Amino acid sequence: MRIKVRPAAQDILRICEENDEGTHAVDAYLVLGRKKAVLIDACEQSESIYEIVRSITSLPLEVLLTHGHPDHAGKGLSAFAGHGIPIWMDAADEAVLHKRGASFVPVKTKPLQNGMVFDLGGMVLEAISLGSHTPGSMVFYEQERHILLSGDAIGSGAFWMQLPESLPLSQFLANARLLQKRTASGNLLILPGHSYQAESILSDAYLQDVIDVTEDILNGKQSGQLKTMLLGGMTLEFKEAARGQMHNYVYDPKKAY
Ligand SMILES: [Zn+2]
Repeated sequence: MRIKVRPAAQDILRICEENDEGTHAVDAYLVLGRKKAVLIDACEQSESIYEIVRSITSLPLEVLLTHGHPDHAGKGLSAFAGHGIPIWMDAADEAVLHKRGASFVPVKTKPLQNGMVFDLGGMVLEAISLGSHTPGSMVFYEQERHILLSGDAIGSGAFWMQLPESLPLSQFLANARLLQKRTASGNLLILPGHSYQAESILSDAYLQDVIDVTEDILNGKQSGQLKTMLLGGMTLEFKEAARGQMHNYVYDPKKAY
């Protein structure tokens, strides 16, 4: 496993974690204001992510988790907790965060809520609740520059809505429409949690594709073949749909209501 740090936008660094085979696996983002920095997600395996962040900035720091899955809230979190750095996450994902193997040291999180604002100095991030892939998924919106840091809440070109913790599609659709209204004021740049899955840069058009494909499924206009996958010892049933930049929308047909 290896970490690569690359610019994602002005004052936003993408921290890419590769797996042992050298394949890009997940992204965290370091957002640097004038008076404060935030780390959005913490990758999966890298225990040294605290040192990596501290080699880049000595600003006061907070961690914002988009959701509780292990590839976003991984082993590196305990070093932040050990240094007294606040770790924020929607309490609705506590069960997801703690559904781990014995090697995970649980961290205490502060309850992140819809509408909370993080003023970094010259850059303000607003937390927007977007229950979807997990019930407590949260995205972060920088209004001035129209940047949305989205974790897995609207996917990254591919989208997993087939998990036991994923919400019914109609609930996700309502949340996605609210997000679209909230972010409608300009050309949106979406920085997702698995950027390598996207075939091009994600913008407003992608959010529209996500909404359209969800409507298609709910209206019976897209209905793929029923398949199964093995995940964490569970057999999950799923179907797939696609539209535009959303090339693989994986969902549980029992939650297609
Ligand atoms: Zn996830």
